[in-house]
Amino acid sequence: MIQVISRTALTILTLVSLVQATAYSAESPKLKALIIDGQNNHAVWPKSTIMMKQYLEDTGLFEVDVDRTRFTWRANNQKAFLPLAGVGETEDLEQPKTDPDFEPSFEDYDVVISNFGWKAADWPEDTQEALEDYMENGGGFVSVHAADNSFPKWKEYNKMIGLGGWGGRNEKDGPYVYYTNEGELVRDTSPGGSGAHGPKGHFPITVRVADHPITEGMPEVWLTSKDECYAKLRGPAENMTILATGKDVSGKAPTDRHEPILMVVDYGDGRIFHTTLGHDTDGFEGVGFITSFTRGAEWAATGEVSQSIPNDFPTAEESSSRKFKLRK
Ligand SMILES: [Zn+2]
Repeated sequence: MIQVISRTALTILTLVSLVQATAYSAESPKLKALIIDGQNNHAVWPKSTIMMKQYLEDTGLFEVDVDRTRFTWRANNQKAFLPLAGVGETEDLEQPKTDPDFEPSFEDYDVVISNFGWKAADWPEDTQEALEDYMENGGGFVSVHAADNSFPKWKEYNKMIGLGGWGGRNEKDGPYVYYTNEGELVRDTSPGGSGAHGPKGHFPITVRVADHPITEGMPEVWLTSKDECYAKLRGPAENMTILATGKDVSGKAPTDRHEPILMVVDYGDGRIFHTTLGHDTDGFEGVGFITSFTRGAEWAATGEVSQSIPNDFPTAEESSSRKFKLRK
């Protein structure tokens, strides 16, 4: 009888704390997120910016702005624009070019998400310094897929992302970092270029740090949606933790390693979440992508994660996707 009563009391207490938690988050101000973009070699951009904006808003935790370079460039002159109010006039170019007026007010945001890509033109020097100051002083930054291809010569940016690919990066930029098939973490300083991937496919993600707020509650192994498994990334990898790795099982993998997929980096007082997932619409529709992205953005903004793992999260046997619907 005593046991029954205490269990009932516990249930009531749990209910009360749940109600309080709900009331608190409903009344607390939303986190301010800024997605920056404008030059990306991927055909899914700028749709990918709209998808990420909506994913963040769907959590109920964020309000999201977008700041875009005035000069825009994308691969293959894709014209797959979806409407997005408030980004201002843009001029579509054949080749990426620095926008001298690109100066987002980073300090107004809890987290800044980069959807730039390979070959993006350098930002004005003042804007680079502004991001460095913002991060040094406790800002949050998220690097998505090809954002780790951008700005190979910008030293501090490469410290922020930890590892990068392509753009002439080689042994001068830092080691390759990966896990072996035996589960050993390796920093490999051997010479060579950076950045590779096999064909798009479902591939297994192995969680390496299960008690980090971003990965907590994920199955130890889960399948991606059809996506690219980035490989041979290299960079300074300072103050970096690999949360999860991916193993290309296509039969055409560029390496026989478990490659870093989800990473976190400390930079000054700032926090960075880096995901290499998100090649195209299939990648952005993956529940593994969506969940790690919105949790990673919250962690970069606050150092904590309040979102739970959704019921449709992938397992080791089954991948999971959500067809994207643009909210009117
Ligand atoms: Zn890609």
